[in-house]
Amino acid sequence: MLKPKTVDDGLLEELTKVESMGARRRLIAYRAGTVVLRSMVEELLDMGFEWVLPVMLSRTTDPLWPDPGASIETRPELEVYGVRVRTMQSMIVHKRVLVSLGPPKFFILSPNIRIEKRERGKTGWHLYEFTQLETEIAYGRMEDVFRVYERLVTSAIRAVRSELSEDLREIGRELRDFGTPFRVVSRRELERAYGPEWERVLPHKIEEPVWVTDIPREFYDFEDFETGTWRNYDLYMPEGYGEVLSGAEREHDYEKMLTKIKRDGLRPEDYEVLLRLAMEGKLKPSAGAGLGVERFVAYVVGARHVAEVQPFPRIPGIVSPL
Ligand code: ASP
Ligand code: MG
Repeated sequence: MLKPKTVDDGLLEELTKVESMGARRRLIAYRAGTVVLRSMVEELLDMGFEWVLPVMLSRTTDPLWPDPGASIETRPELEVYGVRVRTMQSMIVHKRVLVSLGPPKFFILSPNIRIEKRERGKTGWHLYEFTQLETEIAYGRMEDVFRVYERLVTSAIRAVRSELSEDLREIGRELRDFGTPFRVVSRRELERAYGPEWERVLPHKIEEPVWVTDIPREFYDFEDFETGTWRNYDLYMPEGYGEVLSGAEREHDYEKMLTKIKRDGLRPEDYEVLLRLAMEGKLKPSAGAGLGVERFVAYVVGARHVAEVQPFPRIPGIVSPL
């Protein structure tokens, strides 16, 4: 099986040909995506999450900065009704506001636009449009989020294995069940073990999904100013695949958020609602995450490129006719 991160021009050409949306491997990937989404939505509803629909244009969105993993070429803006709005990079700001004023736990299937640098077309792991299965839990802790996504991941894999066993056999995918809880390791340990390139090395070193914690990044993730540790996390899948989820316990203190926004060189006025609620004591502590749906499905079917699971591939650097 060819893994992401070893993509050649031939594969990119194949995936972007309109007719290839009907190829056997692609049809099986869409079927797997259907089973995964149904399973995850059912589990979330069963756990009492409310289902909220996404928005796509907003005056505020995830800055995607600073994030060691981010590599954004442009942040599209357009004008509607005389107001500058951005295309959604993630609904993190919206999730923080909603979890404070609305339902205490909810999920959103949220389409994101992230114009990744074109070199990322060949990582096999990046898309410029994709969907996150986002959750947020009022007063939640990291461990609460770990348990939710461990259940989503293991249930979805079980469902695909039992419902699509013939399809998996046809494409030569040996999909395994995983035990829970998943192992938790800190980014510092990984840097010691594998050096600064740990993100690339880790997916080849693990046999089971692994939670990675303490990753310095955007202001909205909780940082302990005394110890310098971050109460955030990513989920890594084995077999060379890699990161499929990011999340965190969140900042809710006004002064601290403002300090971090300024430190990151961002504009406080872009986060006006968040800051006002924090100042008024209305911003609740929470925790949540977003799972990259296409990445997870790509793992499930053993895709050669994450775009293989998209009928209309969104490969960085390639704008197809559809
Ligand atoms: N979805 C992520 C979160 O909940 C943010 C991101 O998209 O990276 O923290
Ligand atoms: Mg992020």
